[in-house]
Amino acid sequence: MSRSTIARINTGALQHNLQIMRQRAPDSRVAAVVKADGYGHGLLTVAKALQQADMLAVATVEEGVQIREMGISGDVLVLEGFHDQEDISAVQQHKLLPVMHADHQLKLLKDNAELSFKQVWLKLETGMNRLGFQAHRAAELHQWLQHGYTDQVVLMTHLANAELPHPSNAQQVEVFDQAVAGLPGPHSISNSAAAWGLPETRRDWIRPGIILYGISPFTDKTGTELGLKPAMHLCSEIIAIHDCKAGDSLGYGSRYQCSKDTRIAVVAIGYGDGYPRHIKDGAPVWVAGQQAKLAGIPSMDMLTVELPDDSTADIGDEVELWGEHIPVEQIAAFANTVAYELVCQITGRVKKDVV
Ligand SMILES: *Cc1c(COP(=O)(O)O)cnc(C)c1O
Repeated sequence: MSRSTIARINTGALQHNLQIMRQRAPDSRVAAVVKADGYGHGLLTVAKALQQADMLAVATVEEGVQIREMGISGDVLVLEGFHDQEDISAVQQHKLLPVMHADHQLKLLKDNAELSFKQVWLKLETGMNRLGFQAHRAAELHQWLQHGYTDQVVLMTHLANAELPHPSNAQQVEVFDQAVAGLPGPHSISNSAAAWGLPETRRDWIRPGIILYGISPFTDKTGTELGLKPAMHLCSEIIAIHDCKAGDSLGYGSRYQCSKDTRIAVVAIGYGDGYPRHIKDGAPVWVAGQQAKLAGIPSMDMLTVELPDDSTADIGDEVELWGEHIPVEQIAAFANTVAYELVCQITGRVKKDVV
């Protein structure tokens, strides 16, 4: 009776991808990024599977506390750091490692002068204009942190265009290198794209996220083409099949018109499950061992697929929306977004099966 719309999460794939990332950057330690519920794959599953990483990284203090409550005791970095007294107490209590990127955090630290951390990551603004202290403050802040609060300051920044051959990459690295020249401590610059494609940014710590899930950060290559394995397989089943005549239209808004007599399969997944509503007709869907095409606007609980003439599809057959046969990167292109968003927006209605 249970609905068979499921996301199968393959922990072996997560571990394989970590291994591939390590081979690509053998001299760097890995902070495996598991924010946003492990990029939608399930925080517990992902945090457990990736314990071989040198540390885990999350966005928020709350996510860090969740990891501790799962009984995981390794290092956990909080990429946005603490924002109030409650946060800073939780960071201390649960032995999380904070990123410091703004003056309000310095003030909180001064108000808690007795605190100390195994490591603090000092984030510098080098061109993305999101988080980070102005690079010229690096030396002053480094000294202040090291004299009061920690024995080790990791110097970090984040690139705005790492997945592209963009001139800003070299510019950001140059601003960073000038700011940290002569300061002791490890460096960290790279997300997945930089760790993969920009060797000069690998440094002491890389911070890969998307690659660990088997997804490529580059638009011209899929994860599989990089040697990665997709960690999420999003599947559902056919709940109805019917014949449409040439000229019939499908679904809300009648967006899709059948150009010829066509068999249509109705699949039990829609935007209420996180499948993108804004996707174009023709997006690939894997049905009965073949690639079929999405036809019509997905609705909340269902979508419709035009079956190939020789399809053997039947009611109850499993359908793959992305995963083994259909790269999620390809779905992202049809939906005019990035695969990051697709995996993150799978809703709570979709059961996760860990394999
Ligand atoms: C999310 C995040 C990462 C990981 O990025 P990917 O593109 O998924 O590899 C790395 N560093 C920071 C600061 C992040 O916020």
